[in-house]
Amino acid sequence: MLKHIFPVIFSLLFLVSCGGTDFLANHDKPLQGLNITIDPGHGATRAYDNFRVGPAGEREEWINLRVAKYLTKKLTRAGADVLLTRAGDRDISLGGRATLAKRHQSDLLVSIHHNGSGNDPDIDLPIVYFFGPASKNPASVDFGHILLAEMRKQMVFEQPSAGAVYSDHLIYSSGTSILRNTIELMPGVIGEGGFFTNPAGERRLRSRAYNKLEAEVYFQAILTYFDRGLPTATPVIPDSLKYLDLNDRVQFQLDDGFGSHFFDGTSFEIFQNGEPLKAAWDEMLGILSAAPVPTQEQQVSFQVFGRNFKGNSIHPVAFNFLTETGDLWYSVDSWRTAFQRADSLLLAYNSVDSSDVPEKTRLLDETLHHYQLSLELQIVHPKARLAEVRILDLLEQKQKLLKLDLAEQLNIQRQILLEYYPQ
Ligand SMILES: [Zn+2]
Repeated sequence: MLKHIFPVIFSLLFLVSCGGTDFLANHDKPLQGLNITIDPGHGATRAYDNFRVGPAGEREEWINLRVAKYLTKKLTRAGADVLLTRAGDRDISLGGRATLAKRHQSDLLVSIHHNGSGNDPDIDLPIVYFFGPASKNPASVDFGHILLAEMRKQMVFEQPSAGAVYSDHLIYSSGTSILRNTIELMPGVIGEGGFFTNPAGERRLRSRAYNKLEAEVYFQAILTYFDRGLPTATPVIPDSLKYLDLNDRVQFQLDDGFGSHFFDGTSFEIFQNGEPLKAAWDEMLGILSAAPVPTQEQQVSFQVFGRNFKGNSIHPVAFNFLTETGDLWYSVDSWRTAFQRADSLLLAYNSVDSSDVPEKTRLLDETLHHYQLSLELQIVHPKARLAEVRILDLLEQKQKLLKLDLAEQLNIQRQILLEYYPQ
């Protein structure tokens, strides 16, 4: 019983001491310590793009840039470290924008756009896009809903109630480049603050006062989002281990974004390589754990999902670990050591009787691993060709020993020898 009383007391103390909007209002730099990327969409497309332009000639990229600059000023004043992907009417490649955002290690990415319709000048509504399926990207969806609500509250649209938060997979089957290439590290959205192809919409979007209002909308949404705390999961791994022991439970220390661990107990999920595990929550310690599934893979990846008591979700970054197999694979430090180890394994392999198939197979795989590893550690080394020859030979033996069809792999290996090491 006592176990259940404690968190209640703690949470009351906690809410009084540092919770909520009071904290924000009394703090002159509420976004101190946060990295935010603001990406004004497009740029310098006037010469060739006849689509992203309103009936009176206002171009989307110009509106995007004005709003982004006003917003950057507000965020910087509030203490955020802001990266603006372009500050002028120039084009930055989509890949370049994503690289900038990643280098900046942002806590949030906001790409500012405005919408156009080639065949319906009446349409004018707000849309916020997130990447992929909502269930895999909950933090971006959280921010998307906050932003949409703020747009509807303060901005003017011809069809305000028709706006929505949508997956970017509705526009492109693999999503938008900017969100797809940043999602591994940070939550992000594309905001579409109305249609410039609607004549009334374009008139509004041309107005500097309305651009400032839109910047204020983004600013308020960002404040609200961060005020709800940035919940995180951190893997707990004993320092003495270099790899993750899959016989032990995998554990994550959760933080609700306020230095504590008040979470919605029904929101937890742990995935191993995309497959759900049964997660257990220790609310006293704030530890979420699960029993991993054994695997022969060299690497294993985990994602943690959970929502803090204010409704913000953990952004499910992938935590990648070596398994024991992977650790053995990488623990050899130089190509020379790997090659020598492969040679001695080859001797051991040749001395085992063919009737002992399990042992023969184990040694064959180990030998193969080490010849391949020597090439992975040093692409070109004095014995590289010999390593490739031995790999081809071992693959042929493996095919015979285990009666496998390795034709494709053997062909690739023969091609490598022919094309990369001609004699
Ligand atoms: Zn756009």
